Amino acid sequence: MAQLKHVWLQENKWEDVENYLQKKKTIIVPFGSVEQHAKHLPLGTDAFLSQLIAEDVAKKTNTLIAPPLWVGWAPHHMAYTGTITLRPETLTSMVEDMCESLIYHGFEKIILINGHREANLPPIKIGMTKVRNKTGAFMAIADPFYINAEKGKELSEVEEGGIGHAEELEASQMYHLLPYLCEPSASVKNIPSHHRFMQHDPLVQGDKMITASDVATYKEATKGIGVMGDATKANPEKGKAYHEAVVNNIAEFIDYCDGEVEVSLRNQDIPL
Ligand SMILES: [Zn+2]
Repeated sequence: MAQLKHVWLQENKWEDVENYLQKKKTIIVPFGSVEQHAKHLPLGTDAFLSQLIAEDVAKKTNTLIAPPLWVGWAPHHMAYTGTITLRPETLTSMVEDMCESLIYHGFEKIILINGHREANLPPIKIGMTKVRNKTGAFMAIADPFYINAEKGKELSEVEEGGIGHAEELEASQMYHLLPYLCEPSASVKNIPSHHRFMQHDPLVQGDKMITASDVATYKEATKGIGVMGDATKANPEKGKAYHEAVVNNIAEFIDYCDGEVEVSLRNQDIPL
């Protein structure tokens, strides 16, 4: 297939998409969040990262990307000004409606890139599971923390609990990709003490409870700054290595989907 001139679906004409579908049935959909990221990273961090990862994966694998969803589910981040949250039902519906529209046109394999880890994952997983069962399309989520866990462990220099929110790895990726929006000198370390089962760092193994958060407890736990973990060890070199690894891993998975995943679509209704 010839190299795509424009990887974003919305930059193409409808006939370009029809031609693409003659040869390839895979598409990427980026999901983000507009939520506080302390004093060193912009509110759009999770959305910027999912879109920039998607763009590099798309160029590497010659895959189209659907328009990104900028906002997600972030109720606890409402503790800080500027955060926008959807209701989880809205996010689930967005996944269903966007994916079912694409499936109506003939897309069969949808790779969702999530830039917002834990909070976005439950509503997106519900949405993609509904779409999978309804249509038979292949649905998968690539979240940097999980598809790039090994590289994260290799690069991370922070102590246990240092990976959380606005921390070393996402700050490093932002310092590499969008330095003009960042303020590294304002980064801080905040690793709260908590019960041993209440570890939020995904890179730490062990027995864990899952607890709910709210604006009051979140604001207190993040010291009125908005950071959970350690951002002081972030740097652009680490971000470059982390970004390249996540792009390579997702590209490898898309090549596997293109070559080996068999799909038989049923029910290609327009979402109404
Ligand atoms: Zn983030």
